[in-house]
Amino acid sequence: MVLKVTLLSYTPDPERVAAAAARQCYSKFSATKAYRDLSPEDISRLLKKIISSGHLSVLEHASFTFSIDGISRACSHQLVRHRIASYSQQSQRYVRLEEIEFVVPESVSKDDEARRVFVEGLERCRSAYKFLLERGIPAEDARYVLPQASPTKIVVTMNARSLLNFFELRCCLSAQWEIRALAEEMLSLVKGVAPTIFGCAGPFCVTRKTCPEKKYDCPKWVELYKSGTASSGNGGAYANQ
Ligand SMILES: Cc1cc2nc3c(=O)[nH]c(=O)nc-3n(C[C@H](O)[C@H](O)[C@H](O)COP(=O)(O)OP(=O)(O)OC[C@H]3O[C@@H](n4cnc5c(N)ncnc54)[C@H](O)[C@@H]3O)c2cc1C
Repeated sequence: MVLKVTLLSYTPDPERVAAAAARQCYSKFSATKAYRDLSPEDISRLLKKIISSGHLSVLEHASFTFSIDGISRACSHQLVRHRIASYSQQSQRYVRLEEIEFVVPESVSKDDEARRVFVEGLERCRSAYKFLLERGIPAEDARYVLPQASPTKIVVTMNARSLLNFFELRCCLSAQWEIRALAEEMLSLVKGVAPTIFGCAGPFCVTRKTCPEKKYDCPKWVELYKSGTASSGNGGAYANQ
């Protein structure tokens, strides 16, 4: 099963919108004028200032919509725990999974014996599901036999502030591999269209220069520490959030 993430749509000129909102907060002029007149340099400077000061609510005016295909139900369950977002997920009540291709973790696929047992279990689930459907059991009930490895498709819309929070939590090496791969892919897509907002985005240790889990043997922490970027104190991009 291959993860596929597409940035379907986003607020046109998202950084200009957020910067215009920020400018209006601190001047007598309207956001309309700011939206029209701000130069790219003004936008970059304003956004860096509001991010470092923690005035992140202005980032909520920029939204991003992703189409996500090929994640497991285990992963989508972790994703939808992020409440500041909108979701539309393929229904297992209305859509019958005809040819199910399951998501197999690498820890399983690289271990011959584990893979054999895992695949046997999935095959039993797949057969039971088909049997139940053929017997006339509604898909909404037959699905109860499907495992967390079942694939799903989901559309998610998040604003830039919520995305920054999502990346802090899910780009972390402590996050599970599947949602981390998803978060990293989403981050690379939004960096392309809003480089100032997302240029410094990433796991907590990158944005705040501290590790909330205190995992000081984590390879990412060691890398940051060796480069002189990390410290044990609080601080960093979203310190005043
Ligand atoms: C490493 C890791 C391990 C986890 N382990 C578990 C686990 O064992 N069990 C489990 O149930 N979950 C677990 N989670 C999920 C976690 O508890 C969150 O539900 C999930 O990460 C969503 O984060 P969030 O609440 O910040 O995001 P969102 O729901 O998008 O919320 C964003 C922010 O809005 C604010 N906010 C949102 N809703 C409220 C509210 N009702 N009241 C006050 N402020 C609010 C908060 O500041 C929040 O950070 C884990 C997450 C991670 C990253």
